[in-house]
Amino acid sequence: MAAEPAKYLYDMSEGSAQMRTILGGKGANLAEMKRLGIPVPDGFTVSTAACVDTMAAHGQWPAGLWEDVQDALARLEERTGRTLGGERPLLLSVRSGAVFSMPGMMDTILNLGIGDETVEALAAEADNARFAWDSYRRFLQMYGDVVEGVPPHAYEDELTALKARRGVDQDTDLTTEDLQELVATFKDVSRRELGRDLPIDPREQLRGAIDAVFRSWDTPRARVYRRANDIPDDLGTAVNVMQMVFGNRGETSATGVCFTRNPSTGAHELYGEFLVNAQGEDVVAGIRTPRPLAEMEEVLPEAYAQLVQTMRDLEAHYKDMQDIEFTVEDGTLYLLQTRNGKRTAAAALKVARDMVDEGVLTREEALQRVEPGQLDQLLHPAIDPDHGRTPVTKGLPASPGAAVGELVFDADTAAERGGAGEPVVLVRYETTPDDIHGVIVAQGVLTAHGGMTSHAAVVARGMGKPCVAGASAIRINTAEQTLTIGEHVYREGDLLTLDGSTGDVYGEALELVPPQINEDFQAIVGWADEVRRLGVRANADTGEDAAKARELGAEGIGLCRTEHMFMAADRLPAVRRMILAQDEDARAEALETILPMQQKDFEGIFAAMKGLPVTVRLLDPPLHEFLPNLVEQSLLVQRLELTGGDPQELESARELLGQVKRLHELNPMLGTRGCRLAMLYPEIPEMQARAIVRAALAVREREGETAGVEIMIPLVAYANELATQREVVERVVAEELEAAGEQLDVTVGTMIELPRAAIVADQIAAHADFFSFGTNDLTQTGIGISRDDAEGGFLSAYVSEDVIPANPFESIDRDGVGGLVGIGAERGRSVKPGLKLGVCGEHGGDPASIQLFEELGLDYVSCSPYRVPIARFSAARAVLKGERRADG
Ligand code: ADP
Ligand code: MG
Ligand code: MG
Repeated sequence: MAAEPAKYLYDMSEGSAQMRTILGGKGANLAEMKRLGIPVPDGFTVSTAACVDTMAAHGQWPAGLWEDVQDALARLEERTGRTLGGERPLLLSVRSGAVFSMPGMMDTILNLGIGDETVEALAAEADNARFAWDSYRRFLQMYGDVVEGVPPHAYEDELTALKARRGVDQDTDLTTEDLQELVATFKDVSRRELGRDLPIDPREQLRGAIDAVFRSWDTPRARVYRRANDIPDDLGTAVNVMQMVFGNRGETSATGVCFTRNPSTGAHELYGEFLVNAQGEDVVAGIRTPRPLAEMEEVLPEAYAQLVQTMRDLEAHYKDMQDIEFTVEDGTLYLLQTRNGKRTAAAALKVARDMVDEGVLTREEALQRVEPGQLDQLLHPAIDPDHGRTPVTKGLPASPGAAVGELVFDADTAAERGGAGEPVVLVRYETTPDDIHGVIVAQGVLTAHGGMTSHAAVVARGMGKPCVAGASAIRINTAEQTLTIGEHVYREGDLLTLDGSTGDVYGEALELVPPQINEDFQAIVGWADEVRRLGVRANADTGEDAAKARELGAEGIGLCRTEHMFMAADRLPAVRRMILAQDEDARAEALETILPMQQKDFEGIFAAMKGLPVTVRLLDPPLHEFLPNLVEQSLLVQRLELTGGDPQELESARELLGQVKRLHELNPMLGTRGCRLAMLYPEIPEMQARAIVRAALAVREREGETAGVEIMIPLVAYANELATQREVVERVVAEELEAAGEQLDVTVGTMIELPRAAIVADQIAAHADFFSFGTNDLTQTGIGISRDDAEGGFLSAYVSEDVIPANPFESIDRDGVGGLVGIGAERGRSVKPGLKLGVCGEHGGDPASIQLFEELGLDYVSCSPYRVPIARFSAARAVLKGERRADG
């Protein structure tokens, strides 16, 4: 049986908020508002399926779509008592609306249906010729730009020139005659650019407009935005066709944007902007810098009161902060859009917490209103509040946070330099959606124009980019690439600091201070602790890191590496002596020197973590890392030979070169590393185990309590390796305890970081008290790539060309490496049901990877100290997601 053909057309009254996959977010919410009795202009929605099918047919509309549109139009004409292009003209807006909102990334056409005759009818009906001609020139510009691809500046330049001729500043200062002249000029511009006239049949225009909105799904900026926000490319956009309402009908008309709470701070207060005698694009596109919403109370008191009530109603209905577009036509309020507002990280936490306090949300619901990435943003540094410097200028505080970087004037340069990791601040007259690729990698954005609710500001807040907008005192000369503030001229490469929370701009680089974790942050992460199942530990190699991790809520150390304890300058000579020792006595002497140093290091960590478990991994890196580089040592020997220097020095240099050559490995990553080294030199793990036990006892003696000691054997491939190493460790531990006359629980486990280890995990588990999956090495060995070589090479191309969904070192390769973790966990537990399983490595702090570790039933994750709160939070989200799935 053939599937039911997709339905392409929905009258607004047929829809609801539940239908966003079909109607897009905008269409679904417009329908929902209509259902709630909120005044919304009437219209219909072309479904996302129509766009998807059109894309699939390379731009060919599916059969029946155009007929459906015409039928829906006929119904709308009937309901409104108006006709497209008729004597009582119906004017339309044709608006994009994707499933996930993409502010300003796609196209909209307003005032469709206006032409040489309807403009007169509109003027007569409104008794306002100026308004009619203003609408006409706006339509010509938008249609030419969006549908026909005329460069928008071709129109802008004419508008600017006309204003200059008339000696006026604002569009609103132009007279009816001026606008009539502009309409004629715009027609000429279109003819000049296209070599033909724009179509004058409004139905043909409607078809062209809908088609243009379909196409706008695939513009470069829309694709960049989707990639940055993890939105799939195949969803398509819906198209909303609505009756126009006019904010440009004179002094009793207006248009604006508002949020039900402050999207920068989350404060429950009035937040918005409006413009009298204007159309919506003027505000959202940042063309004019609008007035604060509070002032609307004086200008349009009734519409204002109604708006404030509607804001309350909508927020209560959606149980979330709303971002609303409205227009007042001749005193009457209409809502044109509502959506869950994009907000900064700080605002997201405050809103979630306040809504729990207000009884609107449960704690579980609140946890789902915050994204892990937002917590991450709050862990970034801010400007030192005691900087004592004077700002060179001030703009609107459009998106908070500190940005320090070198000035760049265009998005391409920002994308290039920022993409290469250089800190840049993008400075623009106004940002347009086409700048998105530069905004994404810039530290922050400064604009001369535009308001707090412009798309640029909304997008910046959504991405956590500091933004200062509408800094009207700055002058930008794009041709000369200069920024002038007061007397001072800045050029590309000069340093700037932006404070997006105050709007202050500094002509220098200011000091940053570490992040302050506020009460909202602690409350939310605290709720996460009530929900999560996975334990969260940290990777820390020093007492200082361990203390930081504990402060951030780590429940132990999952990985304490001991390599740096060997690499430090004061130890390296002894370490080299140990490696180069000709006999056991010489080796023992060298280790004797290292042991107390090691013990000191462990004491610091155990003291910081007393009462909590600490997993110490025994020495891992390849031997050659302790020795000089082969080439350098050869050169040294050559030089000494040539200069005929001190024969003694030459002798020892030659000897060392010999050792280096002997120990040189072609592929050290797969060479004598991990426990292979300890298998060759059991004195090393012996010394380390001794230092660990002595440190644990010393801390207990001094502090009354010590850490739980877990000793981890690295890079095991064969069960016998672990059995041997375990024996060494257990023997030494027993010796030390007996000598001290003390008791101490010490467990011994291994890292699973080789595919073989995962496959034979049942054999290995017989000798292990715990497993810790070293997912970084498991990714290298499992996929067969070396991180250093891959990330600098083909891997980024793989990601950008969608060969693989993400960098497997940042987010675990679910199917492959994740599959190995699954096998290791299952086989390990098949012989030891209670085997403790953890993950160490960067994946332990990655939300998507944590999701997988939750599904696999591991016991804990371990990540870098600053990721600990994110891991705690993500672990709770993983539980909630599992419950949602179980609910169906
Ligand atoms: P964007 O994604 O760029 O915000 P929208 O479809 O929301 O695109 O439209 C752009 C602007 O046009 C908004 O300010 C909106 O309020 C305004 N607008 C859209 N439809 C209408 C309409 N029917 N009447 C008046 N203004 C409208
Ligand atoms: Mg909008
Ligand atoms: Mg390893």
